[in-house]
Amino acid sequence: MSEAADPTSAPRATGATRGIRVGASPTTPSSTYLDLVAAETAIAAAAAPPITSPHDGASIEDTSAIRAAADSLQPELVELSHRIFEYAEEGFEETQSVADIAELLAEHGITAQLGAFGLDTALVAELVVGEAKPDSTEAPTVAILAEYDALPGVGHGCGHNIIAASAVGAFLSLVEASRRHELPAGRIVLYGTPAEEGGNGKEIMARAGAFDDVDAAIMIHPFGYDVTDQPFIGRRILRVRYYGVPAHASASPFQGRNALDAANLNYQATGLIRQHLYPGDRIHGVILDGGQRPNVVPEFAELEYYVRSNAAETLKELSLRLEDIANGIALATGTGVEVEWDPQPFTMPLRYNTPLSERWAVHQEARGRRVLTKASVPSHLAASTDFGNVSVRVPGIHPVIAISPPDVSLHTREFAQYATSDAASTAIADASTGLALVAADFLADSNLRAAARADFDAAGGALDVEGFFS
Ligand SMILES: [Zn+2]
Ligand SMILES: [Zn+2]
Repeated sequence: MSEAADPTSAPRATGATRGIRVGASPTTPSSTYLDLVAAETAIAAAAAPPITSPHDGASIEDTSAIRAAADSLQPELVELSHRIFEYAEEGFEETQSVADIAELLAEHGITAQLGAFGLDTALVAELVVGEAKPDSTEAPTVAILAEYDALPGVGHGCGHNIIAASAVGAFLSLVEASRRHELPAGRIVLYGTPAEEGGNGKEIMARAGAFDDVDAAIMIHPFGYDVTDQPFIGRRILRVRYYGVPAHASASPFQGRNALDAANLNYQATGLIRQHLYPGDRIHGVILDGGQRPNVVPEFAELEYYVRSNAAETLKELSLRLEDIANGIALATGTGVEVEWDPQPFTMPLRYNTPLSERWAVHQEARGRRVLTKASVPSHLAASTDFGNVSVRVPGIHPVIAISPPDVSLHTREFAQYATSDAASTAIADASTGLALVAADFLADSNLRAAARADFDAAGGALDVEGFFS
């Protein structure tokens, strides 16, 4: 054997010797696509006409009383937002955040219930205005929803501190306005809703009856754009477990059944069906367990996927296709299989209520914000929220409000930097005022209530969420 042919002594054909840069650092994804989308969106936004509403809403006297109350609350709301940002408590552990909300409510004479609907860090506060009684069918009820949970690693990279301050601000604006001025009769409830990120607190609260007596539910979310009906798609969690037969991987592999091979095929098959999914469907997964060591045929492997689709019905179809993959691969590999759906409650696609969204947009326009519809914004920016589950039970809105440049993604450290910015403070002022005014519109305007209900019914009415996928 010549020296050159000896593989142990020949120079290795590394990437470096071929002139290809290889190292521990990944490549940096290009911004080309996002840049093109941002340019298109800027053109669409500039051309978008203001959104109008055919409804009257609350009177000028009501709205000016609410605006004045909201203005006077702003320093306290920004301070609350900043404190919740600093706590950065994760889902179901938002003890300090919710205690600070209760404390601010108490300073304004409102006693909140801490712990509700089976969740320790949920909160309920109530305001009954005018002649309305809580048990009266004549009294419309609006729920204003606050979130305050943070994310591991990126803290308030989803800006839920802004959601909390805006919702509390809207509620307190109505409280303070009702003390100086006779507001339209009805009931306003403030719900503190824990664990939006991964825990689906709103679904847990809904199953415990939180929305049974609610006629409309409203909240906001910070974002890179102002949009009335930003798509939030449905999401389920799928776990697939394969059970193999362990064997010596070298001496007697033929006596084994390889769970990791089954998991690998499952991952590949899921990747291959992506070409044939509906536009907007998304599947993304990880292998949670792939065996212990190479010399033992893996006895157990487990995958976890997030499975998302634009519509509840297409999410159901996608779920069945993934079950077929899981089962088919078990047959092919001689492994056992277990398919587990929804270890946590799933999220439903968000259904927007157009008449209420229009009221939101009108009030934001009055504050100098040009609010877009989803037709003007990139369709790829689709996450999921547990407010989806509320929105298919009662008419609801979940507009997004801009606090950052459009290209900054939610769930990043960069977005977290905007969550205590001056833009965030402006958003809290606009959102607390806007949510309070939409609530007042709903109480004041029976035509708006009827239109909101008709829009909800036309979109399919109340769904049996709990039983939808079973
Ligand atoms: Zn989030
Ligand atoms: Zn969020």
